[in-house]
Amino acid sequence: MIIGSSGRNPTIGKERMNGLVFTAPHEIDFRRDLPEPVVVADRDAIVSVRLAGLCGSDLHPYTGREPMRAGTIPGHELVGTIIDAGNGMHAFSAGDLVLAPFTSSCGRCHPCRHELSARCREGALLGFRPEVGELGLDGAQAERVRIPLADSTLVRVPPMVSEETALLLGDNFTTGWFAAESALGVRYPSRTEQAKEMTIAVVGCGAVGLAAVSAALQLGVARVFAIDPIEERRRVAATLGAVAAHPDESAAVLARDPRTQETGGAMAVVEAVGSPAAQGLALTLVAAGGTLATVGVHTQSAFSFSPGDLYDQNLTYRAGRAPVRSILDRLLPEVVAGRVAVPVEAMISESAVPLAEGPDAYRRFARRAEGVRKIVFVPGS
Ligand SMILES: [Zn+2]
Ligand SMILES: [Zn+2]
Repeated sequence: MIIGSSGRNPTIGKERMNGLVFTAPHEIDFRRDLPEPVVVADRDAIVSVRLAGLCGSDLHPYTGREPMRAGTIPGHELVGTIIDAGNGMHAFSAGDLVLAPFTSSCGRCHPCRHELSARCREGALLGFRPEVGELGLDGAQAERVRIPLADSTLVRVPPMVSEETALLLGDNFTTGWFAAESALGVRYPSRTEQAKEMTIAVVGCGAVGLAAVSAALQLGVARVFAIDPIEERRRVAATLGAVAAHPDESAAVLARDPRTQETGGAMAVVEAVGSPAAQGLALTLVAAGGTLATVGVHTQSAFSFSPGDLYDQNLTYRAGRAPVRSILDRLLPEVVAGRVAVPVEAMISESAVPLAEGPDAYRRFARRAEGVRKIVFVPGS
């Protein structure tokens, strides 16, 4: 691979790399013969992956809930170094350490200019190719990955930010932060005063839920409830400062707290799972006049409540993919300044897992094996 060759790489299509491939639901293969990604457009960059995350939303195609084309390289969370770029890429140089949000974004369209990079008109989701059509991108669970619209998608990793922190900023932490802001109706660093009077319940304590718990606490929320059926996840949430509860006990726990007793539930609820069951539970925990924010990917058409249920409690419902690239413009400087901390230890349960162990990692993650919260691959090893 020629560094900084602006796409004029004479070995295009000839080299091979290691990576994971989705072949069918419940089947991920490790392969040593994947084609190298190459620059195909002026604004592309090729990134040599140093860390690649395994995310809860990778499980949607894996478990068959969301159809994906066989042969797709999965993964949308990465930190790596730029090794090649098209002629239209000016903001970065070869060798720059970067993180990528999970969607590409042009930085120019209306959604991009209005803090909604996740809905960029030219954007695409990394590590996902639909069963039909040409859209979609191979992902980061491989040695190298192509990032389109690289100038406006990639973010340089500041020297004082660790690579694991940067990986979490590209998706899970920022998604959890967005969920907490959405539920609380605040926008850090301004408009945070009202958070101090509020209570929040977070349903689901995987990496994103734990990030939402951490975000709510850092936003100064008076009481944070963390709800998950897995004891170990509740324990981690409690170490962050939340009141942890099993789903079956959660209504009773909220009813005992003087703040939620008075309001009749939590004023803000984050649903960080993406299932009708979690949604239904979240609805039972929110107080009249409160806000329910969901960031779980909803792949099932079944909805456990209706607009009428929202009407009956004067609720606000906020849903959608986190606009990570947009939010990083204001969140990353706070992390660099030490005003926002990313709870790396709480969120990542396994780091430095070789890609060759990817098939096993998917299996363990999918069945929520004991202690598994977030797995991070090291593609270069
Ligand atoms: Zn993700
Ligand atoms: Zn755009």
